[in-house]
Amino acid sequence: MIIVMHPEATSEEVAQIVERLQDLGADIHITSDGGRTVVSGTTETRLADEAPWASLPGVERVVPVLRGGRRVSRHFKPDDTVVDVMDVTIGGGSLTVVAGPCAIESREQMMGTARLVAAAGAAMIRGDAFKPRTSPYAFQGLGKAGLEILAEVREETGLPVVAEVLDPRDVDLVASYADVVRIGTRNMSNQALLREVGRQPKPVMLKRGRASTIEEWIDAAEYIHNEGNARIVLVERGIRGFDSSTRNTLDVSAVPLVKLATHLPVMVDPSHAAGRRDIVASLALAAVAAGADGVMIDVHPRPSEAMVDGPQAMLPKEFETLMRDLQAVASVLRPDPSG
Ligand code: PEP
Ligand code: MN
Repeated sequence: MIIVMHPEATSEEVAQIVERLQDLGADIHITSDGGRTVVSGTTETRLADEAPWASLPGVERVVPVLRGGRRVSRHFKPDDTVVDVMDVTIGGGSLTVVAGPCAIESREQMMGTARLVAAAGAAMIRGDAFKPRTSPYAFQGLGKAGLEILAEVREETGLPVVAEVLDPRDVDLVASYADVVRIGTRNMSNQALLREVGRQPKPVMLKRGRASTIEEWIDAAEYIHNEGNARIVLVERGIRGFDSSTRNTLDVSAVPLVKLATHLPVMVDPSHAAGRRDIVASLALAAVAAGADGVMIDVHPRPSEAMVDGPQAMLPKEFETLMRDLQAVASVLRPDPSG
């Protein structure tokens, strides 16, 4: 933050500002510009941004330095964060594909889908035991029984599994089965849940709120990081738009924007953006071309029978083709995936 003092500010007034910034642990630089004293202070916290600096005596104006103090920002850590999950790497030039059904419906459905997507080359399996449904009468997920199936899937395929957590009271339960816990779009602003996943050791996939700005999304990641968990993957999944041709509007620009602003890996979920399977592949390819570190794809062996999100689920055969096309795009854009 930069505090520009009035030309006639007294040295006591400047000293008062400096003292308050020092109390917040800020690193302080004092310069003068056209007869004015300019005090700039940087802190690792945003406490300084919240104090009523503009109303203190002698202050002419306050220029917030754009949230460079956040731990998830590039300013704080210039190098890309790479999140390792078992043998899988997210970020740092690799392309990570997560695939599976929206919801765990049965052992047979989950295991069958997992085998198919693993054979096609997925690096990680998705499948939720707790589903956030608009209607309280819709299928809510199998709960703990679903998580047990997910653990069997990991055992069988050797791949890490990802599952959503909806409730702070279930964080330990979900984290004890899943290798990555996911925060869904409806919970991006649930700070109690963000803090709770920040206090456990598993990596966190943080989806963008469907009506959230990029700044709000990055702030949500900061809640997790502040509790000590730095293994965060941002997931763009579309925002609500006015066009009903798609379930949401995929914000491809979010990919390069968050990569500029933060050091975190960024993935894209084109399935929940599109809401329809016929354009999922195109969106996934666009995401990778835009620099996404990976994609998360809904796949179901019998989409017409799916209990949740059938219309957007790809068939295993379609997913196989997509895997080949993704690899082709990635090999052109990132000829050295070790980089
Ligand atoms: C999901 O991935 O199944 C899901 C509920 O996603 P979102 O939170 O993005 O709607
Ligand atoms: Mn879903």
